[in-house]
Amino acid sequence: MPEPTLNFYPGPSKVYDQVKDYLIMAFDEGLLGIQHRSEKFVEISKNTVALLKKKLNIPQDYYVFFASSATECWEILTQSLVKRKSFHIYNGAFGQKWLDYARKIRPESSGTAFDLQAEINVADLQVASDTDLICITQNETSNGTQIKENTILNLFNRFPDPLIAVDATSSMAGINLKFIKADIWYASVQKCFGLPAGLAVMVCSPRTIYRAKQINERRYYNSLVLMYEKMLNFQTTYTPNVLNIFLLNKVLEQRPLIKQIDKDLTQRAQQLYDFFQEQVTSNLGLLVENPDVRSYTVLAVKGEPKMIEDVKKNAARQGITLGNGYGAWAKNTFRIANFPAIMDEEYGVLKDFFLKFYA
Ligand SMILES: *Cc1c(COP(=O)(O)O)cnc(C)c1O
Repeated sequence: MPEPTLNFYPGPSKVYDQVKDYLIMAFDEGLLGIQHRSEKFVEISKNTVALLKKKLNIPQDYYVFFASSATECWEILTQSLVKRKSFHIYNGAFGQKWLDYARKIRPESSGTAFDLQAEINVADLQVASDTDLICITQNETSNGTQIKENTILNLFNRFPDPLIAVDATSSMAGINLKFIKADIWYASVQKCFGLPAGLAVMVCSPRTIYRAKQINERRYYNSLVLMYEKMLNFQTTYTPNVLNIFLLNKVLEQRPLIKQIDKDLTQRAQQLYDFFQEQVTSNLGLLVENPDVRSYTVLAVKGEPKMIEDVKKNAARQGITLGNGYGAWAKNTFRIANFPAIMDEEYGVLKDFFLKFYA
């Protein structure tokens, strides 16, 4: 049985081929043992923040922070920006998990689930007036849905007082997100950034920092005000993942601007959706029937559990790793990442596999 050579798992996912060279470069340049208070680190960190802003179209007055994971960002946001409660609008496992974490820390937090096939009905939403933070998952990795730009803008307009936080873990660095339309955006790097796990990027609006300062919560190593104070000099509150920050820097240098990546990725997503809709056997179908809410970066394909199992095993025999289903959809879906580090040719091989066995 050949080792799987093509990896379509939606996170951790395929890393850029160039990461191999960058790893050697980091070793040779002596970066693996540098001090996180050194000038060298500050230079890399500062440069990486500048590159993130340039390549991802992040507004100049927004703040960029490094954390360890998206999960850590859930904790940071609740501890530092929620005095009483957050309100969560979700349709899948990651959004729900965020609410579960938030409740452990701020028990008054609550949420509302919306249908997988539907958009959020912003006009009818009931949000208590003492809500500190509204939380959404822009790209729900567990079921392959996404929240459109306009919906986020409508939320922002309808609820101008609470901060709006967006989990963009499986879309940041893939889709051209309009950061200006929400306050907090975060992602870990093992998805669209094409990097190994162990680092997250969190982007905050000026008013987020203003709120954090007002609340002035300083009890944790990752309290946002402490992160902010350290980041004034491009440092972190703890010894960070210097290697991954370096890899992020290198990968960003090599990548085109997000506008271009977005264009290529959305086009490829459309082709993949058309392919599964039109050319693959009727025993397999797209989980998300409503084209308006389909994710551009994660596709979910549905079938009988036995069929799904068979497809995954068969794919593995051909050296193709498909993503398992997740949460409620663990057994009756598989997922396919449409991430920038995966080449068009690799999707060619994937399509050939489905044409050969499941057309
Ligand atoms: C992967 C993922 C997470 C969790 O990321 P970690 O880096 O493991 O904390 C959170 N939210 C979404 C939407 C994800 O896709």
